[in-house]
Amino acid sequence: MKNKEMKFGTKAIHAGIQPDPSTGAVMTPIFQTSTYVQDAPGKHKGFEYARTQNPTRDVLQNNLAALENGTHGICFGSGLGAMDAVLKLLSPGDELISTNDLYGGSYRLMKQVFGKYGIKFHYVGMNDMDELKAKLNENTRMIWVETPTNPMLNVVDIKKVVKAVNGKNILVCVDNTFASPYLQNPLDLGADLVLHSATKYIGGHSDVVHGAIVVKDEDLANQLYFIQNAAGAVPGPQDCFLVLRGIKTLHLRVQRSCDNAREIAAFLKRHKKVSKVYYPGFESHPNHKVAKAQMRDFGGMVSFDLKANTKTAANKVLKSTNLFSLAESLGGVESLIGHPASMTHGSIPRKERLKVGLTDSLIRLSVGIEDVADLKKDLSNALK
Ligand SMILES: *Cc1c(COP(=O)(O)O)cnc(C)c1O
Repeated sequence: MKNKEMKFGTKAIHAGIQPDPSTGAVMTPIFQTSTYVQDAPGKHKGFEYARTQNPTRDVLQNNLAALENGTHGICFGSGLGAMDAVLKLLSPGDELISTNDLYGGSYRLMKQVFGKYGIKFHYVGMNDMDELKAKLNENTRMIWVETPTNPMLNVVDIKKVVKAVNGKNILVCVDNTFASPYLQNPLDLGADLVLHSATKYIGGHSDVVHGAIVVKDEDLANQLYFIQNAAGAVPGPQDCFLVLRGIKTLHLRVQRSCDNAREIAAFLKRHKKVSKVYYPGFESHPNHKVAKAQMRDFGGMVSFDLKANTKTAANKVLKSTNLFSLAESLGGVESLIGHPASMTHGSIPRKERLKVGLTDSLIRLSVGIEDVADLKKDLSNALK
């Protein structure tokens, strides 16, 4: 069956994956080698040196391309390694416009690394396109969209962003980490690039750091393969294997997380110590309609704020959960709890984060795939 004809769950398990031709191994082997023998100089089986090509990585890249309905996958040693490669498509003088409610590490890479090389970054709200249009000029080369956003869980209308820059020689890149390819496929909505921290839902077991880009244009793919090889931020074959293994249950895991998150969001909304719950599945969420239209479900992330609006109050809750582990990251089978202001978003100035509602008492949950009754009990105890 062709990749295009398969439904998501079938693609997760089969797309781009064949039994190993040399042994018949059903699972893709870990090709732990740095180099490959040549019959004569330049005469080889398509593999020369493992920074440039590795068979385990190739299989993963093809599988990821199919999951995002793209043509080419390009893998990296981390999500930020992938983002670094995307930003290297830009030149001094170029400008990028990004969502203003952004993963802290992405913000840091833009401002503190690429800012030095003469690239200008603008951060705007993308609830409507007015702020974006106001920043557009002849130097704009890229739009960076994170949706749902981290940790405020705003949802950006990807089709609207694409339409706003249509015909302008501007690349639209969507960081799809929070949704995963199971919930949202930005290339289908007109984006040029989709980026994942595969460390999160795609890997899904909190045992690997990995990043990927998927595109649907051969020329863009070749530019990125060039950067992948030239800059060398490649993942090792073991990590590629772990990601491939994680993907086999991606659809099951993410669906269960979504179901659990829905219940937890409703539970928190009713709780008397909670002042606000951020969850795009609520009909009252300002972007609920967009989320419903562009996502298959509403995701496994829930953020909430406390009536006692202090870091001390948040700390009490963060220290008191038992099943929710206090840790950075998200998207694993186990539930995590975090304090964005001091953890993932610690590198963003307080004034900037307060502007988007990221208060000192905001708590973020990555809801795992445990039994939801136990998760609710755990939160209920911690909120006492
Ligand atoms: C974690 C994360 C990244 C960075 O990925 P790493 O694999 O940690 O380098 C980028 N974007 C989002 C939305 C993330 O959650």
